[in-house]
Amino acid sequence: MMGKGLFAALSRIWGKIYPAKCVCCGELLDETDDVFCRTCYDAYENNKQEICSRCFRPRCRCTCPTFPLGRAGIRRLIKLYKYQPSANDLPENRILYALKQKHLQNVFDFLGRDLSEAINDALTPREKETAILVPCPRSAGAKRKNGYDHTAELCRAVSRNTGFPVSFALKRAPGGKMQKNLSREERKRNIAGRFSLVKTDEITGKTVLLVDDLTTSGATLLECRRVVKSAGASRVIPCVLAVSGRDYVIRPQKTRKKGKRYKKRSR
Ligand SMILES: [Zn+2]
Ligand SMILES: [Zn+2]
Repeated sequence: MMGKGLFAALSRIWGKIYPAKCVCCGELLDETDDVFCRTCYDAYENNKQEICSRCFRPRCRCTCPTFPLGRAGIRRLIKLYKYQPSANDLPENRILYALKQKHLQNVFDFLGRDLSEAINDALTPREKETAILVPCPRSAGAKRKNGYDHTAELCRAVSRNTGFPVSFALKRAPGGKMQKNLSREERKRNIAGRFSLVKTDEITGKTVLLVDDLTTSGATLLECRRVVKSAGASRVIPCVLAVSGRDYVIRPQKTRKKGKRYKKRSR
């Protein structure tokens, strides 16, 4: 195995020949930049720091679920930023693309570090004792196409920061369509029964951090959660980089209008 020192030296030389570029705009990076130039980093950071209208914390520290996840009974969702489906050139979207397609170690490290901070902030000391990272598995086709599983790489990067072990207990059966081209109902049907567990003992009694890149309808996370729960996980907390969809946060309970009488529901 190559020593760490040698690896670092080689990547320094490599960096001199091929200086790193911003994953969004392509501008050459300074030595202090990780993946973004200053301008793109600021835009990404602003998205993360946007205040949640429900808990008044910055988005990357808020654990409010998205509307579909909240409706399904999920109380906590760890996330970093909001994905804008119609604006592909935004730094927040470009980095997700880089994570999936480009196989860049600095992107894994950067996002892994950011997600670790959010996880560390959200978990109680007791949950941290039994915490385990479980990636939502890609389809075999997606893995073949890109040559790697980006969610697994993301989990490894989070593990390097938090020290939580990664478990590949969740497996995905072949077949099915790409989720992103389907409607909400179709997504649910497409994903039902597609996941199974291979190593149940790794899950039992653990605080499972279910890691995925993006959640829209919540169908994948909910199906993975159901399978993991059935193996006796004590807690399952979904963790994603980005949230998408119209109803990002559960709407607050509507207050009763003055003067209007509500009929009592008969039971
Ligand atoms: Zn840039
Ligand atoms: Zn919130």
